[in-house]
Amino acid sequence: MKLAVIEGDGIGKEVIPAAVEVLDALGLDVEKVPVELGYGKWEKTGQAITDDDLEVLKECDCILFGAVTTPPDPNYKSVLLTIRKELDMYANIRPIRPLPTVRGILDRSNFNFVIVRENTEGLYSGIEEIGQDISWTKRVITRKGSERIARYACKLAKERKNRIVIVHKSNVMKSDKLFLDVCRETAALHGVDYSDELVDTMAYKLIRSPEKYDVIVTTNLFGDILSDMSAALVGSLGLLPSANIGTNHAFFEPVHGSAPDIAGKGIANPIAAILSLKMMLEWHGNMSEAALVEEAVDAALTEGIITPDLGGAYTTKEMTCAVVDHIKKEMRK
Ligand code: NAD
Repeated sequence: MKLAVIEGDGIGKEVIPAAVEVLDALGLDVEKVPVELGYGKWEKTGQAITDDDLEVLKECDCILFGAVTTPPDPNYKSVLLTIRKELDMYANIRPIRPLPTVRGILDRSNFNFVIVRENTEGLYSGIEEIGQDISWTKRVITRKGSERIARYACKLAKERKNRIVIVHKSNVMKSDKLFLDVCRETAALHGVDYSDELVDTMAYKLIRSPEKYDVIVTTNLFGDILSDMSAALVGSLGLLPSANIGTNHAFFEPVHGSAPDIAGKGIANPIAAILSLKMMLEWHGNMSEAALVEEAVDAALTEGIITPDLGGAYTTKEMTCAVVDHIKKEMRK
């Protein structure tokens, strides 16, 4: 496997080396290609991502990505949006499940759902104009975009409980009527049970009773917001992994950003990045290695090794070491 490794900015430079250490411990045949992208590169060169970078990424089988800082500068083009669009990675998959010994805001452990977020259009279309008195962003919903994300959600639902919830705001934004209709048609076609919720109601219900949900399919911005909100159910943004899947490329990243408030302190939780690596291994078909990574994370947490975001005092390095040690111990058996 040829893997592009992008640390990015802030804590990306701490959590991606942690995930790579875990990958190395597995002893797989992986060619790692480091790629420098992000705000740091922009400050040095005036470009956060170049056409050459995109070519390198396209030549790799997949990408492991940390996080990038996006400054509020209208001339700055989002690196993430560029990669997702250029490589057409239309499905953003965010599994939300509790982890051992960690409790989120509800102190519950009986939920396990996945947010399937359309990743290339909606309000992140990038079609916008910034003015003195009026600014606007065009929200783009297409049949093709809605159909393929609905198909992905149905495929996932078939492996789980065979039901999806379509999240939208079609009562106010007429563009969502197309998304809703296409998702309903696709679910019916694939024999998957479906229901739908308005996004504001969904936010309320997810917090009230997360155990009722399994596969949630939604548009770009709604998926982004619902998944950060769901991090509070799990316990920390530092725990949530994600995958961006396209037809020819895949890209794995923690849900969190570059966290400038803790960057450089060595206390970032590496679990989101390590579990993103686990999703990458599954995608590549390395199922036993993926299971071993998950088991090692669970074991470290069960031993009480937790970082400050979860109320502990362990560092990024100590947490990583605990995961790597568990993997090595199991591999020696
Ligand atoms: P953030 O996700 O970086 O941080 C939000 C809060 O969660 C902070 O208090 C941070 O310390 C904490 N946190 C996040 N990850 C953590 C971890 N692994 N361990 C412990 N605590 C963690 O969101 P933000 O502060 O709103 O954004 C910072 C920058 O990141 C912005 O420039 C934003 O544009 C960018 N961002 C990038 C991505 C990405 O690259 N995928 C995603 C979101 C935000």
